Amino acid sequence: MNGLPARRLLLVHAHPDDESINNGVTMAKYAAEGAHVALVTCTLGEEGEVIPAALAHLTADREDALGAHRVGELAAAMAELGVTDHRFLGGPGRFRDSGMMGTEQNRRPGAFWSADVDEAAAYLVEVIRELRPQVLVTYDPDGGYGHPDHIQAHRVAVRAAELAEEASYRRDLGEPHRISKVYWNRVPRSVVEEGFAALRAAGGMAAFPQPAAPEDVPGVIADRRVTTEIEGDEASVAAKAAAMRAHATQIVVDRPFFALSNNLAQPLFAREYYELVAGEPGAPAGEREHDLFAGVTA
Ligand SMILES: [Zn+2]
Repeated sequence: MNGLPARRLLLVHAHPDDESINNGVTMAKYAAEGAHVALVTCTLGEEGEVIPAALAHLTADREDALGAHRVGELAAAMAELGVTDHRFLGGPGRFRDSGMMGTEQNRRPGAFWSADVDEAAAYLVEVIRELRPQVLVTYDPDGGYGHPDHIQAHRVAVRAAELAEEASYRRDLGEPHRISKVYWNRVPRSVVEEGFAALRAAGGMAAFPQPAAPEDVPGVIADRRVTTEIEGDEASVAAKAAAMRAHATQIVVDRPFFALSNNLAQPLFAREYYELVAGEPGAPAGEREHDLFAGVTA
């Protein structure tokens, strides 16, 4: 089909860097195994803060040039993960970063948060019908932590999956396709607690003055709700760290920790976790899957 590999994975994210933080190991692992890994990023992250002082002029309140810079960071990150198919929803700059919840940027023309969900979803339907992924990964309905672009990315991804399989919907966007399995990014509570305990035990944390809090980690839920656990080898964990480092305006990495612009240390998770929310589990009841494609037959 389109000359694509047998296994096809689509990830939908809000900003450049979210993919490497949440799914870097998963993306590197499946890309290395020869699966088709495609990333759709919904905004350029124009409203982000900037860590390196030398690049502080890029921010939205100064030159407003961060979006274009982050396109380059994302490309470098994808090179580290071995992912060649990465796109922006509707093309680069079609939807703008909406800023944090409640800010005036939420209502700015072109802001992703103010976009019509069906209109935005149509761009993703075209990608789904072209690539025909068996697996879709995105955020939970709260976007993991309530950021408007993450919530909207969830809504658009879910809506696009529905529309893509509807036979009567927009045949100009390709033949209908049904995604077999849909996952939300998750982190089990015990893993977060252990990660922060290790962080506190490490004391110095080299580059970072203070730890973040477990509440700063998006998508945390009770362990029993986690259906799927992806463990990478050293190469895919190293690729994740390198990809995160490529987002240099957003992330500082000092393995096994990293920090965002608040400079608070967080654990860099070498395993990634998911909650299967649509499709058949590929593991016996009560056991976790160790492959997003488990049980996928076609
Ligand atoms: Zn984000």
